[in-house]
Amino acid sequence: MASIKENLQKIRQNIEQACMRAGRRPDEVRIVAVTKYVNEARAREAVEAGLTHIGENRLEGLTEKRRALADLDVTWHFIGTLQSRKVKDVLPQVDYIHSLDRLSLAKEIQKRAERAVKCFVQVNVSGEATKHGIREDDVLPFIDRLREFPNITVVGLMTMAPANAEEDELRRIFRRLKNWQRAVEEKHWEHAPCRELSMGMSGDYIIAVEEGATFVRIGSALVGNDG
Ligand SMILES: *Cc1c(COP(=O)(O)O)cnc(C)c1O
Repeated sequence: MASIKENLQKIRQNIEQACMRAGRRPDEVRIVAVTKYVNEARAREAVEAGLTHIGENRLEGLTEKRRALADLDVTWHFIGTLQSRKVKDVLPQVDYIHSLDRLSLAKEIQKRAERAVKCFVQVNVSGEATKHGIREDDVLPFIDRLREFPNITVVGLMTMAPANAEEDELRRIFRRLKNWQRAVEEKHWEHAPCRELSMGMSGDYIIAVEEGATFVRIGSALVGNDG
């Protein structure tokens, strides 16, 4: 297994080149290291390699990693489907939630949060039935309604592309998300600055960066996926 340092170096290089092709600055792109497949020692290695944003998709993994890395300076991201009953335990442990996709979840966050929580609204651009996220038609009305919840700040939009999609399909999906992000940003809603785009994983982050990603969520290609 390659060291995280080596993987990171390669990924940073790929991101820089993608930014160059797209006329973007590399410092606009932050890497969220997804540690859901690996143990605490490997997660620690990631932070020591210079990764300060860590993502987990389950409450159990989040709690475990947070406890193990309590001495390190980490920004924590919850990237997975969030069940309402877990909100009260997830909230105090995270800086960002990437998967806000329904009003009932917004209500629960509002009820449990003690401060405004940075949330990405997850959009199902691919239309796959198995993917979570709101429909594209609902992006503006849904985010408009979130103004009722002062404990939620919509910092951006998030999507997951299908694992086996061709390049043009990926580009189409990422571009559509970017267009929706702009549409929200242009509303200048105080509760929804919506400047960020959380898109791109191990298999498609280069294309996501070319299409405007500001947070890429990378697991297997960075920290590995076997322990
Ligand atoms: C697991 C996961 C990732 C990272 O997946 P890789 O393909 O291993 O990079 C990114 N985003 C979400 C929401 C995930 O659940």
